[in-house]
Amino acid sequence: MVIVGAGAFGASLAWQLARDGVSVTLVDQFEPGDARATSGGETRLIRSGHGADSEYTASARRARTLWRELEAECGEELYVECGVTWFARAEDGWEAATMRVLAAQGIPFERLAPDEGNRLFPSWSSAGLAFLLHEPEAGVLRAQKAVRALARRAAAHGAAVVRSRARPEGAAVRLGDGRTLEADAVVWACGAWLGRLFPELAPIASTRQELYFFAGGSAWAARGVPAFVDYDHAVYGTADVDGLGVKAASDHDGPPLDPDAPLPTPGADGEARVRAILAERFPALAAAPLAGAKSCRYELTPDGHFLAAPHPEHPSAWLLGGGSGHGFKHGPAIAERLAVALRGGAPMPARFGLCERAPGRSVRTAGGSRSTVLREARPASSAPGARD
Ligand SMILES: Cc1cc2nc3c(=O)[nH]c(=O)nc-3n(C[C@H](O)[C@H](O)[C@H](O)COP(=O)(O)OP(=O)(O)OC[C@H]3O[C@@H](n4cnc5c(N)ncnc54)[C@H](O)[C@@H]3O)c2cc1C
Repeated sequence: MVIVGAGAFGASLAWQLARDGVSVTLVDQFEPGDARATSGGETRLIRSGHGADSEYTASARRARTLWRELEAECGEELYVECGVTWFARAEDGWEAATMRVLAAQGIPFERLAPDEGNRLFPSWSSAGLAFLLHEPEAGVLRAQKAVRALARRAAAHGAAVVRSRARPEGAAVRLGDGRTLEADAVVWACGAWLGRLFPELAPIASTRQELYFFAGGSAWAARGVPAFVDYDHAVYGTADVDGLGVKAASDHDGPPLDPDAPLPTPGADGEARVRAILAERFPALAAAPLAGAKSCRYELTPDGHFLAAPHPEHPSAWLLGGGSGHGFKHGPAIAERLAVALRGGAPMPARFGLCERAPGRSVRTAGGSRSTVLREARPASSAPGARD
């Protein structure tokens, strides 16, 4: 088995297969966890809540178990189980649908009155909220460390980890040094580069996203402060994990960014927008000094659903990716399902196929119109110009 791409998806698959005794070669153009790959950020949220979507809910929950297994194998704390709190602006919106699915799957959650945010966060305003949905067993993954751990553990189980820029050659893999790798199966898990490698097949758009970190003081660094999602206002963030500062980001689609282009320094406009939204909920952060800012790339499918499908002309070659802003947490669970599908077991979900992808929900964002149904957060309205 050859896997090209050692991000959350590819490295998870390499780890799972190698520990099952499969012979694996894991190829990446960078060292695993490189900041130019989408999985190379310091932190990513993990939460089971996915609105009414029971399949992603179950996947995230299964992934939590698998991340824990990885932790146990590598002896590192990769998962900060601080909880995730959702800010519900309506009684019967995304969060209410989420609660119904969590309840049906036996996943712990609490429905809290808006004022109870006072006991969760060091600074709080409940303005505009109908209730809070708190997932105590959700939290933050140390993404870059986790990806490195996946690749390391894959190698420990016998996988060969090769650094090279690869390209498809029929069903095989041509490495940068001219060698060709052939295998029973090849999986191209190439993140934002998938669209370039398979332009006719992979409808992946690469966009620039910005993250901001604010120096909120020691209260935000306390272990139990949850991560948060304001789904309707398309903002999410974390408390101060590992001294990075309070993280906040907009989930609106950013402008297109070539996968090979350097990651630009975020601008002051983005900071002002995120700071204003953050200050509404956490007033003490209104004037918090900026501790850091960075850009990264989303690799978006039109409908926000992942891509995991065989190549139509070379069925032993698979395309895997399209994390669409919510893929990291699912990495090991999607890999587990794909490992089964590769052995001829249960197929991957039809919606992860190379089918026509219609935007699930067209919204006006900084980068244009696109579905944002399933990411860490989602804009409030489909009305053009309603945000940004
Ligand atoms: C700002 C931001 C915040 C996010 N927040 C969250 C979150 O809170 N929770 C969550 O679950 N998800 C989140 N996501 C989404 C998540 O991080 C991604 O969906 C996921 O990391 C994608 O993993 P991947 O393995 O598909 O891609 P990548 O991590 O990009 O890995 C692809 C790998 O393929 C390699 N590669 C590409 N082409 C080639 C080639 N030709 N030859 C060799 N190697 C190649 C690359 O070098 C790279 O290492 C966020 C994303 C961003 C950008």
